[in-house]
Amino acid sequence: MSVPVVVTPPRLNFAGFCAYCGMHACTDPVCVARYRSSRWAVCPSCGGVGDCDGVGCDLCLYGVIEVCVNHPGAVQP
Ligand SMILES: [Zn+2]
Ligand SMILES: [Zn+2]
Repeated sequence: MSVPVVVTPPRLNFAGFCAYCGMHACTDPVCVARYRSSRWAVCPSCGGVGDCDGVGCDLCLYGVIEVCVNHPGAVQP
């Protein structure tokens, strides 16, 4: 069994929009704090492919999802 290496997605997407509130260039402390304390793991719906069209997955960001702190293998930004 190989353990996948999970890289957390940026809070601001590559166009500069916040993943939480959708604001451009967001600096909201609520979003910053939420992101800092977030944990991420491979999306169970698409297996990390991140292809929303192919598998109908709309939960994940680039193949990973935000999970609870106790989730096995969860990584922090
Ligand atoms: Zn935000
Ligand atoms: Zn997914």
